[in-house]
Amino acid sequence: MPLLDSLRDRLADLDARHLRRSLLPVEDIEGPRLELTGGTLLSFASNDYLGLARHPRLKAAAIEATQRFGAGSTASRLLCGSLAPHHHLESALAAFKQTESALSFSSGYTTALGVVPALVGPGDCVILDRLAHACLVDAARLSGARLRVFRHNDPGDLRRILQWVRSLPKAPGGRPPQALILTESVFSMDGDVAPLAELVEVKDAFDAWLLLDEAHATGTVGPGLQGWAAALGLAHRIDIPMGTLGKALGAAGGYVAGAALLCEYLVSRARSLLFSTAPPPAAAAAAAAGLDILASPEGARLAARLSDSITALHAGLSNDGWSLPPPRTPIVPLPIGDEADAVRLSQALRNEGCLVPAIRYPTVARGQARLRITTSALHGDEEIATLRASLRRALDRTGLRPR
Ligand SMILES: *Cc1c(COP(=O)(O)O)cnc(C)c1O
Repeated sequence: MPLLDSLRDRLADLDARHLRRSLLPVEDIEGPRLELTGGTLLSFASNDYLGLARHPRLKAAAIEATQRFGAGSTASRLLCGSLAPHHHLESALAAFKQTESALSFSSGYTTALGVVPALVGPGDCVILDRLAHACLVDAARLSGARLRVFRHNDPGDLRRILQWVRSLPKAPGGRPPQALILTESVFSMDGDVAPLAELVEVKDAFDAWLLLDEAHATGTVGPGLQGWAAALGLAHRIDIPMGTLGKALGAAGGYVAGAALLCEYLVSRARSLLFSTAPPPAAAAAAAAGLDILASPEGARLAARLSDSITALHAGLSNDGWSLPPPRTPIVPLPIGDEADAVRLSQALRNEGCLVPAIRYPTVARGQARLRITTSALHGDEEIATLRASLRRALDRTGLRPR
């Protein structure tokens, strides 16, 4: 069958299952509001939790780095010299995470893709939380290691799998298979948090390694906004802490922060670093400026604003009849279930002027579609009141009810 005929069939199939996606072009942005050709949308969809993406200091840092170093990095960092903004960012990241060292990548996604296959391979075993982010799943597959999945946030199930790994044959070279656990601290779709203390106990008992993706916790929680592991006093027990620079930090890129040896090794072995052009100097400089702000009194003020909006959003939606998890993170899932219902409610909200995405398979399991609300320091009481009123009207229009 010709390519385009095949793709037409596949898109029709996605349509029929309410799984087709499309892009929403934005012409301009003002605070939490997006200007589209057809009007304005109040966004509850971005991960810019502190509102740093358009902060004057990040923009100025990006412009200055562009003036000095150019728009592009011209090659892999291994090939034609590694630019100062990347090194400056990595020192700042290590200071922020209180680790010996840090290594930056062009995104969180490529961080995972580079790191996991560098650490384990055929003969080893990667054990993922069932709800781990797609980049962790893809990285695990790419590694060629055996894959196992433990029940979401269930250290007992993880322990059972680690016991099984002990019974596996030796890996190539005659060493025992290495187990690498991949999970998140704050889960990207539901905003729930991992039972880190228990996970760390289990992984230590089995000499497994733990990669913790703090994509949604970096810049939103913990002492100095370092993340969830630091909030629990467990940061030093995580073998491979990683995160993104594209969410609360307002820029773009990803990182690993940990032992100097880990970062040194990854420079030689992480293929997404070796074989890809370094991120633009502007991105690295903006991320470093984001870290500066986090450490400043302004960072504390922004974090307090974020915390206020999380509290107000939860209180408001609970009042409106939604049953929600505890208000610990800026991500609030509204459980819907059916994919078509989730899409209809999201569309009705859009007609009311609010952008709240429907999250569907394959991002979450089939039949567990939800709306994902994210709030930020850019949302005040007025924005939250607007969302609640819009949601009530959207429910009326669609005949759906809070659950
Ligand atoms: C967004 C996200 C990533 C990817 O980070 P990018 O910088 O956007 O590529 C990785 N892990 C989790 C848990 C995420 O939510």
